[in-house]
Amino acid sequence: MSGLELSAPDAARIHAHLAGAYPEEGCGVLLGREADGARRIERVLPLANARADTRARRYLIAPEQFLEAERQAREAGLDVVGFFHSHPDHPATPSAFDLEHAWPYYSYLIVSVARGRVVDTRSWRLAADRSRFEAESIAASQAPAPAGGGAGTEGSR
Ligand SMILES: [Zn+2]
Repeated sequence: MSGLELSAPDAARIHAHLAGAYPEEGCGVLLGREADGARRIERVLPLANARADTRARRYLIAPEQFLEAERQAREAGLDVVGFFHSHPDHPATPSAFDLEHAWPYYSYLIVSVARGRVVDTRSWRLAADRSRFEAESIAASQAPAPAGGGAGTEGSR
């Protein structure tokens, strides 16, 4: 099973954005890098759901939003490695619509938000034959150490 590494602060940002979008679907882009087979999220970009209608059941990341995310990734030396969105009052499993619109390679993080509260977070990748999604593990990564940190920063949190 492939895996995703996500820091607690980034997970909290995703959850806050998606809980705030409730009862509509919220969405955003995951920026990160791959190393030794692990995909590590380094930055999350919460976005407005660009759909004009049915935002309670669908989301859209518009082409210009995607291009802007790619630009920000390039500037930071990162790649767009996935997307996140919420399922208001539905499980964190991909819908038929999600499968139809998914692209290979990317991680699709889905968060179930029930009555405005985050209840489940799962990540998925399209299978090689594109017929289904495969579950991907989510591991908590350490937040990057602050520049110039080291000795003496202990207890500063
Ligand atoms: Zn979905």
